[in-house]
Amino acid sequence: MAVAQAQAAPGVTLETIRAEIHDVEPARPMVGEHRFLLHRSAQPSIEAAEVILAMGNFLPGKPAAPTSADWGAGDLIADPWASGALAGIEADADVVLLGSGLTSCDVALQLLDQGHTGKLTMLSRRGLLPQPHRVQELAPAASLVPGDFMKGLTGAREQMRAVRKLVRVAMDIGYDWRDVVGGLRPITPRLWQQLTTEGRRQFVRHIGPYWDTHRHCAAPAIFSRIDQALQSGRIGLRCGRLLEVAGAAGQGLRIAWRARGQSARQWLAAQVVVNCTGPSNDLKACEDPLICNLRRAGMVRLDAMGMGLEVSSDYHLLDAGGDLVHGLRYVGPLLKAQHWEATAVPELRLHAKSLVTAMLSGRAVARQAEYEHWGLQPAG
Ligand SMILES: Cc1cc2nc3c(=O)[nH]c(=O)nc-3n(C[C@H](O)[C@H](O)[C@H](O)COP(=O)(O)OP(=O)(O)OC[C@H]3O[C@@H](n4cnc5c(N)ncnc54)[C@H](O)[C@@H]3O)c2cc1C
Repeated sequence: MAVAQAQAAPGVTLETIRAEIHDVEPARPMVGEHRFLLHRSAQPSIEAAEVILAMGNFLPGKPAAPTSADWGAGDLIADPWASGALAGIEADADVVLLGSGLTSCDVALQLLDQGHTGKLTMLSRRGLLPQPHRVQELAPAASLVPGDFMKGLTGAREQMRAVRKLVRVAMDIGYDWRDVVGGLRPITPRLWQQLTTEGRRQFVRHIGPYWDTHRHCAAPAIFSRIDQALQSGRIGLRCGRLLEVAGAAGQGLRIAWRARGQSARQWLAAQVVVNCTGPSNDLKACEDPLICNLRRAGMVRLDAMGMGLEVSSDYHLLDAGGDLVHGLRYVGPLLKAQHWEATAVPELRLHAKSLVTAMLSGRAVARQAEYEHWGLQPAG
């Protein structure tokens, strides 16, 4: 923030207001240049000529499995990223972590670091753990993936087959699979956009978990600690689906689950369950007030899979009818609807830059149109 302010053009100021915005409403009639009112609780609304929504990731989605207690209340921890979320867990409590991805690894290590002695069990559908980054001093191999790789392949399975083949060939001549996965990064949006809606669905359902664990790797030191804890039995890993959480808060929980490929219901006992399923991918079920209100007002449009927001090439949000909402833009992980990979900081940084460039050039075009309207030429 301080750097942005220091580098700002003369007359440009940056003000930070601490508030939660629960609605953005078009100002009718427009107040001067102000097209929007940003509503916050118990305080006057903020007027704005243009708005950029950049509200980051949402909490993990609530598991569909029935529970006899409420997520977020005591023993069922809904937000593992909240400050102090794990502080109330008794050291000897048995804990089930839903999911075995990066959040689950972080939570498990945080508990171990705070001296946890109770049983830790990860439960996830496929039991996949993040792959480790390699320990290396050299930069990853560049240009291993041709720019036109898989051009025209519209099916998720055929794309996956082509990637596997390239990985095999690359490894045969001494490269690492990570060089291929890293090399796919710049062309991932194109590959995603090439897929049909059914192809995207197939990708998310069948390939997504493998993509995530290979694309979003764990730091070698983190991976090694988790691996050792799994090998020694300090952390258990169950591969299957959560069916139900039974029991009353404070009196122990019984977690019903079904192992992958089996039909019998099994039970785990625990005092605490932590939802480590990662940022929610389901905007239709999102309970964030701002998203709910924008959806209700028809000011945003979800993609066909309901996992992100649709925007124009200059990042204007599209409304429910597919028209631009002039002056209301979005940048953030919900761009994954159009780009798939839009959650990591390097990608988001590029999107933020493109948004600002589009915004400034839009203003320049509007100014030029105004000069032309009045028949004016720049002086001199
Ligand atoms: C556990 C975890 C680990 C990650 N690790 C990595 C990593 O190692 N490397 C990497 O590249 N990426 C990582 N990511 C992804 C990356 O951190 C995020 O996708 C990225 O920070 C999002 O940036 P953002 O600016 O869009 O949102 P954020 O940085 O999340 O900022 C959003 C801001 O909007 C505010 N906000 C939200 N709603 C409202 C509202 N209604 N009113 C007012 N303010 C609001 C929030 O308070 C916050 O200040 C990780 C994500 C998670 C969840």
